[in-house]
Amino acid sequence: MGRWAAALVLGVSAHAAPVTVTHGTLTVTYTDPRDRAHLGLVFRTWAQATADLKALGLSVRPVQLTAASSATDFARVTGEPASIAASTRGQTITTQRLGALAERGLLASTIRHEGFHTAQPPGLPRWLAEGLARLFSGEAAGDSAEPTGLTALSGAQLDARLLGRVPGQAGAAYREATRRAKVLVARVGWKGALGGK
Ligand SMILES: [Zn+2]
Repeated sequence: MGRWAAALVLGVSAHAAPVTVTHGTLTVTYTDPRDRAHLGLVFRTWAQATADLKALGLSVRPVQLTAASSATDFARVTGEPASIAASTRGQTITTQRLGALAERGLLASTIRHEGFHTAQPPGLPRWLAEGLARLFSGEAAGDSAEPTGLTALSGAQLDARLLGRVPGQAGAAYREATRRAKVLVARVGWKGALGGK
């Protein structure tokens, strides 16, 4: 009996059709049925992020978030390494399975980070967009204070490091981008930084 029940459950999840849920400006599509348990946190985080983005003078448009069914599926859909949490193009966010992000304690910060990218003004340099996204998400609070070793890079060189995602270098590049964004925000404020000053 137990075996039959297990087979039935496996059969259902293997053929699970994607489920789509919309709440406010966010539409979430997921395939792994276990991801349903994390929708509450996703929508609560989105509502807070939306309020915070509006307070910064940014406008929030409808966003589609698709949670991949596996890390392999994520890499196939996004063309990004299977090791990163999420990828955003315009108003479309693709994430790892919501459950996989939640297990690592990354779900809320990933929603805020990618939410920032969907609302950021066009034309921000990549380093500034990443630095501000990490400040906005709270990820920056976990950065080590160790020197990044990248303070001499130009903005364009730092952008290239961020884009290249060279293993072992991306972490320092993200920290350096965040450090510079923080300095800028301290000097000109969030609205000044978003204006690309
Ligand atoms: Zn980012």
